[in-house]
Amino acid sequence: MLSTMQDVPLTVTRILHHGMSIHGTSQITTWTGGPEPQRRSFAETGARATQLANALRDELGVTGDDRVATLMWNNAEHVEAYLAIPSMGAVLHTLNLRLPAEQLIWIVNHAADKVVLVNGSLLPLLAPLLQHLPTVEHVVVSGAGDRSVLAGAAPRVHDYDELIADRPTTFDWPELDERQAAAMCYTSGTTGDPKGVVYSHRSVYLHSMQVNMAESMGLTDRDTTLVVVPQFHVNAWGLPHATFMTGVNMLMPDRFLQPAPLAEMIEKERPTHAAAVPTIWQGLLAEVTANPRDLSSMASVTIGGAACPPSLMEAYDKLGVRLCHAWGMTETSPLGTMALPPAGLTAEEEWPYRITQGRFPAGVEARLVGPGGDILPWDGESAGELEVRGPWIAGAYYGGSTGEPLRPDDKFSADGWLKTGDVGIISPDGFLTLTDRAKDVIKSGGEWISSVELENALMGHPAVAEAAVVAVPDDRWGERPLATVVLKEGAETDYVALRAFLAEAGVARWQLPERWAIIPAVPKTSVGKFDKKVIRRQYAEGELD
Ligand code: ADP
Repeated sequence: MLSTMQDVPLTVTRILHHGMSIHGTSQITTWTGGPEPQRRSFAETGARATQLANALRDELGVTGDDRVATLMWNNAEHVEAYLAIPSMGAVLHTLNLRLPAEQLIWIVNHAADKVVLVNGSLLPLLAPLLQHLPTVEHVVVSGAGDRSVLAGAAPRVHDYDELIADRPTTFDWPELDERQAAAMCYTSGTTGDPKGVVYSHRSVYLHSMQVNMAESMGLTDRDTTLVVVPQFHVNAWGLPHATFMTGVNMLMPDRFLQPAPLAEMIEKERPTHAAAVPTIWQGLLAEVTANPRDLSSMASVTIGGAACPPSLMEAYDKLGVRLCHAWGMTETSPLGTMALPPAGLTAEEEWPYRITQGRFPAGVEARLVGPGGDILPWDGESAGELEVRGPWIAGAYYGGSTGEPLRPDDKFSADGWLKTGDVGIISPDGFLTLTDRAKDVIKSGGEWISSVELENALMGHPAVAEAAVVAVPDDRWGERPLATVVLKEGAETDYVALRAFLAEAGVARWQLPERWAIIPAVPKTSVGKFDKKVIRRQYAEGELD
């Protein structure tokens, strides 16, 4: 028997209308680096998004599922693009502005982007690429920047504010199928070509609802969230759409992502929540240790994208800021788990839960698969590769405008689950602990050593600012750990002391690294994670001896 319910599609258009009307007074505050930030209400943002849709259709000829790319920082105009482009039926394609030129060129050509919206400050990055981007017909420039670098470029150039000025604030929004593409994001091409993940209206809508649930970020219109995680990094973890749905105020850092301006904007604008990868919080901690600032408004912080060292959580606890660990990936929209402990526990009892990656929401089904393909029990001991499925989990990659979707065997199981490439255990009550990425595990004499466990232990040492551990070839054991360590400013220690510290922290003797390097900084990826392939290469080339 079929239900008697209405079949109303779940679309971004609905999020746009709801946010601009019901939560019209909520605000997006964008840091400008000047005396005053830019402030814009959701009502204004919605109206401007509607004007943008009119301009894209009437002036630039965007129709059907044309791809409109953004090369932008986190700011109000970028949120307008997030709302306008999917709502008009086109596809929002966020470009990672930290990728090497050749990868950006590959990605834009693969997606066949027709329009690029770009912040003026990023024009020097875009201009030299344009000659390699034959599908791009229009460039729309938002904010200050030297437009002369575009002289002679093939695409037509427009100014964002001039383009949308005087356009209607109504639009004949199309009736969309909720399974239609709303947005796309490419994974960084660490191995092989980048892979395009295409989000549907339905997946964005359901993911936004999950982000807003109390068991996830649980924010309301009384909150302000500081969105440090870039809008090009898995849609800023879904925050722009989720916040527009519930009226959560957004504080956007634009290009001011260094620790000092972040500390200043937190003290002045008093956000109640923030989201970013661990390296951002490491940097901010060093900054406020040297130049104290009041961060106490920020009751909760969502931290993910890479393992959060427990020592970092402890340091922020002392500042009255609670870091909440989350796991996800581009393919999972990204919310996969969040580490909110079960109810009724003391702070001491909560701790073992907080340092896990967290538990799965109802929309994410998970299983652990052993090396032989067997499904492992959730007993808190059996370690295997995590596989997931659900309505906001990718089932394939974009195959290009003429190709079929791609389902490589190493990323999707025969029965359609996403193979995450992450290795871990799950407790009987559903809390996930990741020990490593499959490709980062150190295989020493047939046993596995977790690089993350060694890093977390090392980062608990008072002299250590950051530590990254990688596998390096070893004649006797196959692989052994190499520990690279960044010391805090003015701090001193040596390998003997660090080895003894690890042993005291409970690391088994056979897991203790015998290769060490003190380095000035851990190399980072385009989204601020430890770039272990660079460390492995540096070691292979003898740079770390
Ligand atoms: P990239 O592969 O470019 O880093 P993603 O941003 O999609 O792209 O990264 C997803 C990966 O990041 C996950 O598969 C996992 O290895 C890692 N990750 C994300 N969150 C966490 C976390 N809380 N703890 C450990 N690893 C994490």
